[in-house]
Amino acid sequence: MAKRMIAALLAVLAVATPAAAQQLTNVQRDAAIQFALNNTRHTMLHEIGHLLVDQLDLPVLGREEDAVDMMATLLMLDTGTEADVIGLQDTIDGWRYSESFRPSRGYVNSAFYGAHSLDIQRSYAMACLMVGSDYERHTQYATRISLPIDRQKSCAEDYRIAERGWSMVLDPHRRQGAPASDVTVQYRDTRGQYPEAQALLEQAQVLEQYADWVAKNFVLPNPVQITAENCGEVNAFYDLETREVILCYEWVDFFYELYVSDIMPVREHFEMMRKLKLEKLGRVE
Ligand SMILES: [Zn+2]
Repeated sequence: MAKRMIAALLAVLAVATPAAAQQLTNVQRDAAIQFALNNTRHTMLHEIGHLLVDQLDLPVLGREEDAVDMMATLLMLDTGTEADVIGLQDTIDGWRYSESFRPSRGYVNSAFYGAHSLDIQRSYAMACLMVGSDYERHTQYATRISLPIDRQKSCAEDYRIAERGWSMVLDPHRRQGAPASDVTVQYRDTRGQYPEAQALLEQAQVLEQYADWVAKNFVLPNPVQITAENCGEVNAFYDLETREVILCYEWVDFFYELYVSDIMPVREHFEMMRKLKLEKLGRVE
């Protein structure tokens, strides 16, 4: 098998409400775009994690899918801007809400024997690394998504172990003055089914930014490629044979629609409640 799947979300695609059917304000549309791009950014780093494991022949102790999730999260925590923190929170929400699409009868066995942890576990693992990296900064958020304080406190050790492991395996491959690695970008199926998703990726230069980051930071033994294409499913892959990270346009589209159909109503409700509470207290923002 050349391809590794990040998640089997195909079944949920049909459930999402088509965003096109709804009239969004500019603010709502911008928020949906940011949400989709934030989830895509973490996914890109996850797939680049698979690429680095393969190309740099890195040892992986434990499940690779969990390990590259950790790498993606650690990298975003490492830069640690407000945009990175919001990006991580959006990714956590993405996993939490995709979990809610599961059929009411519960999990099927494939959820347990699959290569990935359950979506809800992936979301808590990310939150644990966040609060483990900086308790003061992230405890309020971790509490809001019901990560108990006892667990939050033990997450410092999860973070320390993960950070130490990834630094040890990646540091020997840092570029340090060597010529930049050969990382190309390609958009396939440019007249495909998802022109909006493609336009979002191109405008935000998501593929280009990560290609540049890999090229400038690591010495790779072979040329590699970062590709966006129509896949016929909601997914993202690293292809071992072609040495290619493949992001499906469907992935971007899925998270845009997930935001509009499920997350936006909840966030807008909480924002309204927050404002009402402030008004009651006689405060004006
Ligand atoms: Zn993966």
